[in-house]
Amino acid sequence: MSEFDRIRAQIPTGLWIDGAAVPAAGGARFAVTDPATGDLLTEVADAGREDALRALDSACRVQSDWAATAPRERAVILRRAWEILIERTEDLALLMTSEMGKTLPEARGEVAYGGEFLRWFSEEAVRIGGRYTQAPAGNGRILVTQQPVGPCLAITPWNFPLAMGSRKIAPALAAGCTVIVKPAEDTPLTMLALADILAEAGLPAGVLSVLPSSDAAEVTAPLLADPRLRKVTFTGSTRVGKLLLRQAADNVLRTSMELGGNAPFIVFEDADLDQALAGAMAAKMRNGGEACTAANRIYVHNSIRAEFAARLAEKIGALRVGPGHEPGVELGPLINERQRNSVTALVDDAVAAGAVVRTGGKPIDGPGWFFQPTVLDEVPRTARMHREEIFGPVAAVYGFDTEDEVVAAANDTEFGLAAYFYTQNLDRVLRVSGALEAGMVGVNRGVISDPAAPFGGIKQSGLGSEGGSEGISEYLDTKYVALTH
Ligand code: NAD
Repeated sequence: MSEFDRIRAQIPTGLWIDGAAVPAAGGARFAVTDPATGDLLTEVADAGREDALRALDSACRVQSDWAATAPRERAVILRRAWEILIERTEDLALLMTSEMGKTLPEARGEVAYGGEFLRWFSEEAVRIGGRYTQAPAGNGRILVTQQPVGPCLAITPWNFPLAMGSRKIAPALAAGCTVIVKPAEDTPLTMLALADILAEAGLPAGVLSVLPSSDAAEVTAPLLADPRLRKVTFTGSTRVGKLLLRQAADNVLRTSMELGGNAPFIVFEDADLDQALAGAMAAKMRNGGEACTAANRIYVHNSIRAEFAARLAEKIGALRVGPGHEPGVELGPLINERQRNSVTALVDDAVAAGAVVRTGGKPIDGPGWFFQPTVLDEVPRTARMHREEIFGPVAAVYGFDTEDEVVAAANDTEFGLAAYFYTQNLDRVLRVSGALEAGMVGVNRGVISDPAAPFGGIKQSGLGSEGGSEGISEYLDTKYVALTH
C-alpha cells in the first residue's frame, strides 16, 4: 500500500453532510487525478441540486443552536481542530501535493498557514464586541451588538486547497455561522479531510457541509436562490465572482469576494538587489506561480534591468522541476491541461510581441502538466500577460525610467490585490505605498500573507477582507438597539 493509499483510506470520499460522509443523491462520483502524472487518485461523490438543498436544510436546522453556543466552546473546537491538523501535517501535506501538485515543503507550509486561521479565529471568537453609548441628545442610549449572519456558502479554488477553505470556515464558525463549502473540483480531498478533523474536534453535525461537485453551478445556484442562505464567500476568478455577485443580488446576500490579481513588483534603482531577487523568487515562484498574489509584472529600473533579469534567469532556470513529493523538487506541475494551455498561450503571445526568452518558455512533454520555469525580459506592455494573470512559473520583466511612470503603469489594470516594491528610500516607501492601487502592499518583501493581517483586494480584485480582526466581521451583522433613558 502506498503512502497516499494509506492516507486516502482514512479520509472521507462522500459528500460531508450532517457530520458524516454520504453518497450523492443520484449516486454519481467523479475522478480526482494527480497533476504530476495524470493518474487517477480516487473518486469522490458528485453533489447535485438535491444534495445542496439537503445540506442547507441541515445548516438551517442547527443554525440557531450554533449561534447560541458559548463563544468559548466554539473557540475550543477551533483550537482543537488546529492541534489535530498540525499533528497530521505530513499526511495532509502529501494529500495536498497529490491532488494539487505543489511541492511537499510548500504543502507543509500551507498546512501551517491554513491551520493558523483555525487558531487565530479561535482567539477572535471570544472577542466579538459591541458598544453602549449615550445618545448625543441625552434622550436615550445606543446599544450596538453583532450577530452571526446565518448560513453561508463558501466556494473555494484549487490553488490553496486547505487555506482558502480554512480562511472562510474558521471566521464563520467563530462568529456562529453554519457553512456549506463547495471546494474546487480539482482538489476536493483536502477539504473533506478538514471537515473530518473539525468533526473530530467536536463540531456538531450540520454546522459544516462539504459538497464536491463536477458541476459547480448545479450545486451553488439553488443555494443562492434560496432565501434561507444569508451569505456567499468566494475565492476564485473575477469572472466567476461577477456571476456570483449577480446571483447574490436577487436575495441581497452578504458577499465576500477574493478575486483575481495582476500584482506589480517594482524594483527601484536604489533597491538592495540581492533582497529584491530573493523577494521576486518568493513572490513569483511560490506555489509554482499559481497564486493570486503572484508577481505578475516585474518592473525593474532600466539602469539595473539587464543585470536583474540575468540573475533572475539564473535562479529560476536552476529550479528542479518534478513531481512535488520527490525530494529536492522545487517546482511541481500546473493544476491541469487547461491551465498549462493558458500559460503557453500567454508566453507565445508575449514572445510574438517581442519579449526575449532568458530561460524556459515551453511546456514540458510527458505525463503531467509541467511548464518550464521561465523568465521573459523586455516584455512589451502590449503583451496580454501585462493585463492578464499568468498563474504559472513565468516571470515577466518590464523596464521603466521614472517613479511616476511605473506607478501609473502598475495602476493601469482593473485589478488591485497585491503590489510589491523595493527601495531604500523612506520618502519613496510612504509615497509609493500610498499611490499604489492595491489592497495589500509588500515593501522590501515578497511574501505578505499573514493570518493576523487583513487579506483582500480593491477594484475588481474583490470585496472584504479575510484574516486579521477584520475577517470575523465579514460573518457578523451589526444590530442597533435604541434604549430609552
Ligand atoms: P474559478 O473561478 O474557475 O473557480 C473557483 C471556484 O469557483 C471553484 O470551486 C469552481 O468550481 C467554482 N465555480 C466555477 N464556476 C462557477 C459557477 N458558475 N458558479 C459557482 N461556482 C463556480 O477559479 P480557479 O481557476 O479555481 O482559481 C484561479 C483563480 O482564483 C485565479 O483567477 C486567482 O487569482 C483566483 N484566486 C484568488 C484568490 C484571492 O484570495 N484573491 C486566491 C486564490 C485564487
